[in-house]
Amino acid sequence: MKLDEKLINNIKGFLDVHEGKALYDIALEASRYGPCLEIGSYCGKSTVYIGSACKKNSGILFSIDHHQGSEEQQPGEEYFDPELFDHETSRVDTFKAFRKTIEAAGLADTVVPMVCNSEVAARQWTTPLSLVFIDGGHSYEAAYTDYNAWAGHIMPDGYLLIHDIFKDPEKGGQAPYHIYKMAVASGLFKKLPLINTLGVLQRYNFRDIPHNLQK
Ligand code: MG
Repeated sequence: MKLDEKLINNIKGFLDVHEGKALYDIALEASRYGPCLEIGSYCGKSTVYIGSACKKNSGILFSIDHHQGSEEQQPGEEYFDPELFDHETSRVDTFKAFRKTIEAAGLADTVVPMVCNSEVAARQWTTPLSLVFIDGGHSYEAAYTDYNAWAGHIMPDGYLLIHDIFKDPEKGGQAPYHIYKMAVASGLFKKLPLINTLGVLQRYNFRDIPHNLQK
């Protein structure tokens, strides 16, 4: 299956094309071994990249979002989009757009939408995951909650991907970078090169003992 660039360009979202293609490539490898999971699907841009790779492997993508927009997407905030405001309920609602994206991309049998907070979805979760992509709320509390809830479910050799890594605070919020550094400091993940603002970490396998632990 080839990525439908035209469809992807028309999806609202904050992922650039290099980051998207990296998500696709990594998911293509990872989804052979187990389900992928993303937090913060918004209108489904990252979902199409990861989901299309999963589909190729007859895999599955769990896609978590409460679909009420994150802090910075509320009315009056920097990333508010009036087209995503539901006047009937007086709140942001991205689920309609998300569902449209999934159907247009032919991913209805690949993507499992979970419309809730990420910590609720994690509460009794036991399935090992081949890839976790964190792109949810960008407050410290939200980013930490997502990291804390999901990083432990990544299988050996599986990937932890974190969006919006800005080493320079002038360029962007520091919460995603904070959890990225926590993951590195845990000693459980191998640091792979960043792709623009996409942090790429791979869970060590039992056979790869980090250097600092080798005699
Ligand atoms: Mg993002």
